[in-house]
Formats: sequence, C-alpha cells, structure tokens
Amino acid sequence: MLITTYSCHTHTLGVAPLQLQINISRGIKFHLLGIPARPGNEIRNRVYTALRSNGWRWPGQRITIQCEESPIPIRQYELDLAIALGILAASDQLHLPDLDQYLIVGNLGLDGTLLKANDPYNAIARAIALGKKGIILQFDADFSFTAPLPKGFRIGRAVHLQDAIDVLQAEDWQQMPITSEQRQIAQQDALCFTQVEGHEMLKRALEVAAAGGHHLWTEGSPGLGKTMLLERMHTILPPPNVRTTALVQSLGEAIGKRAGDRPCESLRLEQSLASIFGNSPELMEHAIEAFTRGAQDLSDIPAHALPSKPQQVPTLIKSLGGVLIVDELLKHKERFRAALLKPMDSYTFQCIAAANPCPCGHFNSQTPCKCTPIALENHRQRFQAALRDRFDICVPITAPRQEFEAAETSTLIQRRVHQAWSIQMSRQGKQNAQLSEEEILFSGLVPQNVYRWLVEHCVESRISIRGRRQVLGVAMTIMDLGEEQCMELGHLKEALLMRG
Ligand SMILES: [Zn+2]
Repeated sequence: MLITTYSCHTHTLGVAPLQLQINISRGIKFHLLGIPARPGNEIRNRVYTALRSNGWRWPGQRITIQCEESPIPIRQYELDLAIALGILAASDQLHLPDLDQYLIVGNLGLDGTLLKANDPYNAIARAIALGKKGIILQFDADFSFTAPLPKGFRIGRAVHLQDAIDVLQAEDWQQMPITSEQRQIAQQDALCFTQVEGHEMLKRALEVAAAGGHHLWTEGSPGLGKTMLLERMHTILPPPNVRTTALVQSLGEAIGKRAGDRPCESLRLEQSLASIFGNSPELMEHAIEAFTRGAQDLSDIPAHALPSKPQQVPTLIKSLGGVLIVDELLKHKERFRAALLKPMDSYTFQCIAAANPCPCGHFNSQTPCKCTPIALENHRQRFQAALRDRFDICVPITAPRQEFEAAETSTLIQRRVHQAWSIQMSRQGKQNAQLSEEEILFSGLVPQNVYRWLVEHCVESRISIRGRRQVLGVAMTIMDLGEEQCMELGHLKEALLMRG
C-alpha cells in the first residue's frame, strides 16, 4: 500500500516542506531514498524502537520510503513522526485517511515521546501556506502563534506518538489552546539606565527614539558613557509593531532567539560587509519587500539567496522590525555607510548610532584636540550630508554635570515608551517615524498655526523637506509620551532641539 505524507525540515530562515511516499511490498529490506545514509540509519533506528516499544508491529516486508529532494540546504530532518505514522498506515495497522492533509513534524524519542519542533512558528506558517487542514507537532507550553489562523485550522500539540494518532482519528476535534498572554518583558540581565549617571538629554532622546522608532545619532568624546547607554538600549524598547510581529517571530524562531521581543542587534567594527548585508543583494531586497508588505515569514526568498548556515544570516536581516546599534559609525567602511541609506529610508529597522567628534576624540571637550585641520576635515566628510539627513534625532553627549538628579530605571522608562507605543499602534498601526508628512497632517493632531510656524522655521533654517517630516514625527512622539491629544509649539521646539 502506498501512503503519502508531508513533513518539513528546517533551514536558516524558516522551514521547507518535504513530501514522503511510503510503500510496503513483498521483500525484506528497508530503503530510505533521498536522505544521506547516516541520518537515514538514525531515523530508521528511532522509528523502529519507538514503534516496537509502544506495541506496534514492524512490518517484516520491503519498506520503501521516498523523500522528496530539497533544493535548500538541510540543517535538520524532523521526519520521524511522519515516517512512523506512514508505516502504520501503509501496513494497515491504522486507518488514517487524512494523513496527507496534515503537516507532521518532529523526531521521536525511543519510548515514542515526540521531541519539540525546532521552529514551531515557521512550521505552522508553512502548513497554513500549503493549505493543509492542520499540523501536528510538539512545542513549549508558553509558545504563542501571533499570526491569524485560518478558520478550522487545527494545531495538534502532541507529546507522544499516541497523541498524534488521537488527533488524526478524532472526529470531534477541539482546538488545542495556544497561549497568547502578553509576554512579560523580563529584565533578564542586570543592565539598566541607572548604571549610567547623568546624560539626561541623551537619555530623553533615546526614550523618544525608542517610543517613535526614530533613527538617532549621538556624538561625543570617548569615555563619557555613550557606548554604555547604547548597550542598554534594548532595556527600554517596546514590543515589535503589530504589522511586523509575525515576521519578527518567524525570524526569531529561525535564528534561535527568543520570540516576542523587538530585535536589537549590535554591529561590530571588524564585521565584513557580507556578514552585515549578506552575500546576495537579492536577500536584502526580498527581506525589505516582505517587511513592507507585512509578510508573516521570509518563505518567498528564493532558495539560492538563502544563507546556508545560521551564522551566515546577515545582521541587517536579524534586525528587521527592530534596532541596529552602530557604535563608531564613522570608523566603518564607506561602502557600509552608503548601503545604509536605502534601508534607513524604509525604516525596516531603526538605526541608533554613535561616533567620536574627531579622530582623537577630544574635539570640543576639556581635553585639547590633537587633530590636524586636514584630519578634522576628512573626519567630517565621512559623515556625508545624505547620511546625516537620515537621522531624525542628533544629540551631542557632553561631560555630565557634577550633580545629577536620581536616574530613572530602565523599567520606568520602558513603561512610558510602551504607553506611547500603544497609542501609536491603536491610532495608525505603525510608529511615528514611519509616517509620511501627509499621514501626520491627516491625523488632524497638528493645528494649522503650529504647522505654519514649522514651515516658516524650516525655510529660515534651511531644513529639507525630509527634515521637516522628521521634526513632525519626533514632535508627535514627544506628544504621545506626554499622552497629549494635540501638537503644540513646545513639542516642535523640543523636536528641533533634538535635531541638533
Ligand atoms: Zn581631535
């Protein structure tokens, strides 16, 4: 009897489906085609032991299993359960007419327990995309699937081989509860804004940037604490935006990070361009397109553009929908800075960058600057106008005053950020940085006289059209942080001050 069943395997950015055909005929051998000998033998031994230890018969006939060849490099097979169920059906020990309607994922322990799927989010998303009736797999009790489920779609959580059989044979089927409680934003590490004394202005700017998703640039001498503050940025971030939650969760699962948090990636100075942007230009283009479209995963990326190892997933892809932290921005290669412009325009990630004011680091500080005029000029030219224009917020960092107020904890700041973020999500579904000027004016929150004042000010101060939109966006975030309903001159003035 020939049985068809579907499983999947994990790759670097998600999972890919695999079709399995299982046939039992006269003869005595076991053939597993399409899988290399070593993993093939392991699969056979696990399935054999799991079936026998649960009282099932191992058919002493010729068993041929044909596994579809995958065009994508395979990281891990999770085919045991699909093969075990296929053998039970093909040998007439069980009647499973719906078997090919499910995606069946997971490996078996020797006693028949089902191991947790490597990437449950992407496996479920795949099953939905394939139009399956449901999926059977094992996942953590606190796992939650954030994308919408089609009506009637079944997620069968199976802890044991027998659970999977029960799900497939149940006529009256109850949806397994999937927990969706808001994950507590746990401060797992001890990093906190209180550990950096002073710098109220930069802290305020980071709070505004976090709340509204704005790009931020800060400049100051070494040793003042800017790197320390950047290292603590993740402690005040809001959750991912509603439109990108699914994509962020999909990426998190694929690269083995905790899902549910907004990504926050730091760039190292010695990193190669390939490790930042990837080897294939197509990868970034597809990723930005998927992000803009509000896709649930990156499954549309062509197989040849996929990185073959998880270590090769470029940093920019990992920071989609989140934050990219770049310390020492001007020491990075010029090609890197040029390549940042486009993704910064689309706000597919938020860039938080820092640099020294000059090569020696002491320009405009108490320590005298040792740089030659040519060195200073070269340094300034590295920060091209085009790149500077992309930063919504530019604040200097100066030596802290001797006395400072008691600093606020990250938790306290994060609470305000979360509140302001919630206001934006319910009003427009995205963060203020991502709004066009038309969208901001259309919101009806900017009185005409306030807008007219800004237009005149921008003409006088030669602020570009892009700059005007940035000021409006930052002012909206300042307004939302104050939980106010209408933009006032004060909000605009603080936004202009943050523009530097
Ligand atoms: Zn200098």
